[in-house]
Amino acid sequence: GAPEGLKPIWIEHPDLEAMGRRGFRRFRNEFDREPEGIWMAPGRANLNGEHIDFLGGRCLPMALPYGTLVAAAPRTDGLLRMRTLEPTLDSGIVEVPVDSIVPGTPEGWTGYVAGALWALRIAAESHPELAVPENFGADLLIRSTLPVGGGLSSSAALECAAILAFVGMITGPRDLDDDTRAVLAHACMMAEVQVVGAATGGLDQTASLRSLPGHVLSLDCRDFSITHHPIAPLVEGHRLVGVDTSTPHWLGGDDFSSRRKDAEAAARFLGAERLRDLLPESPDAEDVEAVLARWDAADPRPADLDGRDVAGCRRRLRHALTEMLRSERIDALLRHGAPDSVPGGAPGELGRILTEGHASMRDDAEASFATADLIVETALAHSAAGARLIGGGFGGSVLALLPMNKVDAVVQAVDRAVLAEGLPRPRFLCIEASAPGA
Ligand code: ADP
Repeated sequence: GAPEGLKPIWIEHPDLEAMGRRGFRRFRNEFDREPEGIWMAPGRANLNGEHIDFLGGRCLPMALPYGTLVAAAPRTDGLLRMRTLEPTLDSGIVEVPVDSIVPGTPEGWTGYVAGALWALRIAAESHPELAVPENFGADLLIRSTLPVGGGLSSSAALECAAILAFVGMITGPRDLDDDTRAVLAHACMMAEVQVVGAATGGLDQTASLRSLPGHVLSLDCRDFSITHHPIAPLVEGHRLVGVDTSTPHWLGGDDFSSRRKDAEAAARFLGAERLRDLLPESPDAEDVEAVLARWDAADPRPADLDGRDVAGCRRRLRHALTEMLRSERIDALLRHGAPDSVPGGAPGELGRILTEGHASMRDDAEASFATADLIVETALAHSAAGARLIGGGFGGSVLALLPMNKVDAVVQAVDRAVLAEGLPRPRFLCIEASAPGA
């Protein structure tokens, strides 16, 4: 076997029941009272559909067996008192008066929790069953099993677990139907856009709240309609492995929102309110080429694009269009399986789509970075069926589709290649589509 120092690091699947028991004890110590319950919301891995949710594209996420737990009890003095056990963020109990929550405030991680309550109040205006009582507040203790800033959506898991806790405390224990979950997912997106100030498009919150165990969620971001498809036929004989690059991404900076603005400026220039509307219902490669040809013929100037870089906008346009096409190809695979003529069947086709998606993230979205590229290349060189950067980019995680009997060899090779470059040690996660929060 490999020397001790070279054993790849796997993030174990959490034992949620044991964590729940510990959470109750911790909560009692911290707040000197009993929690009313513990709520959980998962992170997600997206098979395809990065940077296109806010453009009306289709996304294909799965909820993960990793997520965020919130133990909570209500208060009647209009205060949120919260503590996270995430070592890098924990500074003891933080107090936020509910009345002080406005766009931009509070800053930092408490904005995700406070924002969820702020957005719930707004959602309740059209959904009276979710009304937040006068002077409502809460004590909250937070613990996550997701890498924070790892591109697996720890932020959405936090918002979603928090909103589930608020709703659970307000309406009492009950199963939430998908319509209610859709309302809550939208509220969490608004929390992040308005209170935190991040340009999220709703994919992460929908994946966290509306997924089914063992299924891929096919999410049409034009109207947030969803279809559930079993993942098993798509990955037959293979395993999906996540590689956390240990390079936390910097969504707070303007790289991500600048990519979004480029794509939106390109769509506006071509006369579309939503970039997805530039393609027909069932697009193919020729439809993508036709839009790009229109762009080239129109020969835009920066002044046509809010002063943005023309070549950059064209690359973002091409990423969005090809990413939308890849999503439709996976959606077709999920609906109809792979035709007999397709090499490697459905997993072979999925693998090629993943790898094409990475090239697009690297060259057109320009959201990749050296460690992710190295991981993808190494995985492919050691017989991965496909691999790509997932999440918003500029840090985060790679998703790789590995033949079952090659998992250890590829993981070993990736670990060594990254270490040989002196880069931060990656951590590996076994990706299985898991249950949504409860
Ligand atoms: P990710 O890809 O993990 O969602 P983001 O940068 O979008 O990365 O979100 C990470 C941010 O979410 C953290 O900086 C923090 O503000 C918040 N967050 C996530 N998990 C936790 C947690 N367990 N406790 C407190 N804050 C958290």
